[in-house]
Amino acid sequence: MSYSPSGPSGGERGFPVRGPRKSLDTLVMYLTGVGPARADALRRLGIFTVRDLLHHIPHRYEDASTIAKISKLRIGDAGTIVGRVISKGIIPTRKGLRVFQAVIKDESGMIEAGWPGQPFLDRSIKVGDVLLLAGTVRFYHGRQFAPRETINLGGEETDDAIGRVLAVYPATEGFSFKQIRALLDRHLETYLPLVQEYLPAALLSQAVVPTLPDALRMVHRPTSLEEAQRGRSRLAYEELLFVNILHLRARALARTARIGIEFTNRRDLTSKLKSNLPFELTNAQVRATREIVKDMTSGNRMHRLLQGDVGSGKTVVALFASLLAMENGYQAAVMAPTELLAEQHAMTFAKMLAPLGLSPLFMTGSLTAKARRAAATRLESTEPLLVVGTHALVSGDTKFGRLGLAVVDEQHRFGVEQRLALGRKGERPDILLMSATPIPRSLALTIYGDLEVSILDELPPGRQPVTTVRRPETARAKVLDFVDTQVQKGRQAYVVLPIIDESEKIALKAATKAYDELRKGRFSDRRVALLHGRMDAEAKDEVMRRFRAGDIDVLISTTVIEVGIDVPNATVMLIEHPERFGLSQIHQLRGRVGRGAEESFCILLGDVSPDTEERLSVVVNSNDGFKVAEADLRLRGMGDLFGQRQHGEATFKVANPLEDVELNETARENALEMLSKDPNLSSKANAALNAVIRRRYARAMELFRVG
Ligand code: ADP
Ligand code: MG
Repeated sequence: MSYSPSGPSGGERGFPVRGPRKSLDTLVMYLTGVGPARADALRRLGIFTVRDLLHHIPHRYEDASTIAKISKLRIGDAGTIVGRVISKGIIPTRKGLRVFQAVIKDESGMIEAGWPGQPFLDRSIKVGDVLLLAGTVRFYHGRQFAPRETINLGGEETDDAIGRVLAVYPATEGFSFKQIRALLDRHLETYLPLVQEYLPAALLSQAVVPTLPDALRMVHRPTSLEEAQRGRSRLAYEELLFVNILHLRARALARTARIGIEFTNRRDLTSKLKSNLPFELTNAQVRATREIVKDMTSGNRMHRLLQGDVGSGKTVVALFASLLAMENGYQAAVMAPTELLAEQHAMTFAKMLAPLGLSPLFMTGSLTAKARRAAATRLESTEPLLVVGTHALVSGDTKFGRLGLAVVDEQHRFGVEQRLALGRKGERPDILLMSATPIPRSLALTIYGDLEVSILDELPPGRQPVTTVRRPETARAKVLDFVDTQVQKGRQAYVVLPIIDESEKIALKAATKAYDELRKGRFSDRRVALLHGRMDAEAKDEVMRRFRAGDIDVLISTTVIEVGIDVPNATVMLIEHPERFGLSQIHQLRGRVGRGAEESFCILLGDVSPDTEERLSVVVNSNDGFKVAEADLRLRGMGDLFGQRQHGEATFKVANPLEDVELNETARENALEMLSKDPNLSSKANAALNAVIRRRYARAMELFRVG
């Protein structure tokens, strides 16, 4: 049996076929029940074809065992309830906010639920509808349920819906949960038989997981939670297997075809740097530097990721690598994502190189035409030098005479094309990528494919750990007083607001409002400035420069504060609406403080649900970026780790490598065995699987390539 990933499944042998042929590649817009508007909404969920629809799997399940009885809910409790709407209406509040309210009843009792600012729900929710609500109970004239998630199960649903397993799907505006479920109800039976297994049967039995068609039925329409779990395990196993295969193949490729420059460790400039450093290197820095020197002095092209928590000292490691290139007569380039960071690196390098009688070259878009030409001329020569810059380094007309090392700082903020472009500015230069997003090593290997990874898992000595606390809304005045005393002492503070909504506009409004309140209120006699995403890069950099120079006391900002910025005098990071942030994001933000000798503070201000409080306790109790990242992964999944999903990245939709440990072990062993017998997966037995991998990960395979 041959597998054809896009081919039709019938009618090939000359039989006339009436109407569009049914295939998994059929676009959902051609399905009954989907019009242009719904097709649009589905596209936002990443659903284009019927195959995508079948793989749009529930993010959770509810059954009697997970649903709370309404009568048992106490103020402060979080939980999921299912009940029928017995009355509803829109209540205006004094502040002009309109609140949709409904009374929900299950067999145990009734509760009022309130949706502030969502009067439009009155149109879609009818008396008699059964709602599934997840949220918390707060005090508002007695008990009131505050839903985080609202799912309308419809009117015809009987109360015993609660007893069955209910699959809950990720939905979007314009395509409700109910519609997704209805669409699947309508088409599942037709298309499921077209799904063919592409994994070898031996693997499935080793991993003890069902076949793909069975698994899809189990995840969509399980008869028990246990069955849903079994179905999920098949999909998770597949992801883990594929990513392991990708990873192993990338590594094999890296071992064979990567001839590069063979530098000699002359210990000339590097030794001089070492004896002139104002500090001792940490053990982690020594280890990482050694790993880099080993790569650079081998005949293979270096392709290494230096990963280290904020403040762990990656810059000086990059400097050692650069000097090794220079003492071999080559040029080294360090590329940073913003002007400001490039500037900061240039200053750091200038300071450290001065005792060696060297200075870095600076190359950004903001240089005057004359300065830029002068820099370009030196770059084009074969003079050994270190250049620091922005993406101006990879612009079409920048030429390097003899590039031997390319360093990309904050590598995840560049596109593939930009990374590739820098690597192509020389003849197979060694590549060092740097990132402050701490991800556990095993995962780093899985995600980054053929990259070698060095980790700085140690902070330089003498750093004061940042004291992190959570404070309720009622403590706001006290918290602001505290910030003010710090400013009084000559320190500086950040106040960070979340992107409240997808919409920049709303975020901007919130930031502007907070800015006005603080500027005219509590901090009226302080120097306050605002930083937000709508400002152009130049204006942003200008504000950050003023902050760094100490000309601003309190900086109010959306999340755009430069990650790599080093302002040792800043000692307070006040985060509003901490519930809106990922743990890693909070950790990165708090890395902006605690960079000097003074004690520093990170304050999470606002009222949060007990669930959130528990989640936030991870950052309150630990200053370890790796621990925080691990918890984040467990709680929120891969996408959020980077703040945003990089399109096409080989991350996981279903699997969680930190939890599916055994499954991942099996997948890794299976992948190893498969590739040892059939390195290119070119055998007939593996053809189907290979086709699926190629189709699914085409872009991911490109992602970390540098040459
Ligand atoms: P990051 O890894 O976040 O890029 P940096 O390279 O900017 O960190 O280093 C943060 C600060 O720590 C800088 O001011 C740097 O000079 C200092 N630093 C780096 N290594 C050491 C060390 N071994 N001992 C003391 N301070 C160090
Ligand atoms: Mg840095």
